[in-house]
Amino acid sequence: MLHLNHLDYYRLPWNLTDNSISWLEPTAKCNLFCEGCYRFNEKDGHKSMEQVREELDVFEKFRKSDGVSIAGGDPLTHPDVIEIVKEVKKRGMKPIINTNGLALTKELLKELKDAGVFGFTFHIDSKQGRPHWKDKNEIELNELRQQYAEMVAEAGNISCAFNSTVYEDTMKYIPGMVKWAHEHIDIVHVIVFILYRAVNNQEFEYFIGPKKIDMGNLVYNEDPVTRADIKANEIVELIRNDDPDFDPCAYLNGSQKPDSFKWLLTGRLGTREKIYGYMGKKGIEAIQMFNHLFFNRYLAYAKPSDTRKGKLMLLIGAFDKKLRITFFKFYKNPLNIFKRLYYQSIMIIQPVDFLQDGRQNMCDGCPDITVWNGQLVWSCRMEEQLKYGQNVEAVPKGFMESN
Ligand code: SF4
Repeated sequence: MLHLNHLDYYRLPWNLTDNSISWLEPTAKCNLFCEGCYRFNEKDGHKSMEQVREELDVFEKFRKSDGVSIAGGDPLTHPDVIEIVKEVKKRGMKPIINTNGLALTKELLKELKDAGVFGFTFHIDSKQGRPHWKDKNEIELNELRQQYAEMVAEAGNISCAFNSTVYEDTMKYIPGMVKWAHEHIDIVHVIVFILYRAVNNQEFEYFIGPKKIDMGNLVYNEDPVTRADIKANEIVELIRNDDPDFDPCAYLNGSQKPDSFKWLLTGRLGTREKIYGYMGKKGIEAIQMFNHLFFNRYLAYAKPSDTRKGKLMLLIGAFDKKLRITFFKFYKNPLNIFKRLYYQSIMIIQPVDFLQDGRQNMCDGCPDITVWNGQLVWSCRMEEQLKYGQNVEAVPKGFMESN
C-alpha cells in the first residue's frame, strides 16, 4: 500500500472546542435505506424545534463552528427544515444540508436559499436502492449528481458537495468519479469519499465495564462480507493511477494512531479542461489561519464566489511550493490570464478503525460531533448512546477469559 508520511502534510487545527463544523441531527427519519447507514431509520424520528434549539445551544456553549451540517436521517423530511436553516443562520453559522436529495424540488431549494442555506452535501452512491437508479454503478450515477449540481448552480452562489460511501466493490469507480468532478469543477465544489465501516465481530467482543454487550441491535453491526478496513492511502494510490500528480495537503490523524489519516484533504486548481496543480500544506495552513485570525473560525465550506477565485489563491504561492508550481503551469500560457481558475476539494474520510488491542481509532478533532443529552458525542457512534447510554469498548476475543 502507498505510504504517505503524515508529517509531510498540514494537520488541520480542528479540535473539540474550536472546529470548522458541527453535526446537527434534527431527525432520524429517512426516505431511503442505504446499506452503510450508521443511523436506525425511525418513522417518527423528528425532533421538535425546541429540541433543535437546545442542541444548538449546546454547540454554542462548548464549541466554535463555522458551519453546521444539518443531517439525519434526511433533514428534508423534517417539516420545519426551513425554520432550522433560519435558526442556524441566525446564530452566525453556515447551514449545510446533508441530504440524499430525493425530496429536493426547485421550489424547496428557493425557500431554503431565502432562509439562508449555505450549501448542500448530496449523499449519492450505488448502495442506496434509489428509485429509478437501482443497479446503476457509481459512474452511471454521475448523471444524477450532475442534475443536482446544475440545479444548485442555477439557484446561485450555494456550495455544492457530494459524498459517497466506498465499498470494496465500488472502490474501482473512484478515479471515474474524481474525473467527473474535475469536468464540473465550476459547479462541484467538494467531493467526499467515506470508507465503509461496520462493527468487527470476528475479532472483538464488546463491554461496558464488566458487562458484555450484544452488538446485534446496532444498525452498523452487519457482519460485513466486504472489507471494512479500506485505508485512505489506498484511495490516493488508486487516484494516482490516473493522475500521478494527485497529492493531499492536509489531514486529521486518529485519536489512537497518530500516523493514520482519518480525514485526508486534497485541494486542486483547474478549469473544466485541465487541472493545473494542487494546494500544498502551507497554502491550506494560510487559509485556515487567515480565517481564524479575521473571522474567529476555522473554515468549513467556501462560497462558490470564492472557489472561483483560484487566481487569487495562487498568490499564496509566496508561501507554498505546490501553488508556485501551479502558478507557472497556469501562466505558461499568458492567455490564461483571461480564464477563470477554480478550486475544488477532495476529502477521504476513514471512520473508526479497530486496533489489535481493541482500541477504537476515531477522528482526532472530529468535525461531525453532535449532541446527546446535553453532551458532545461522536455522531458515527450515536446508536451506542441511544441503546446503551454510552460508547462500548472492544476487547480482543478470549482476552477476558484469559485474564
Ligand atoms: S469520529 Fe466518527 S463522527 Fe467524527 S468525523 Fe470521524 S467518522 Fe465522523
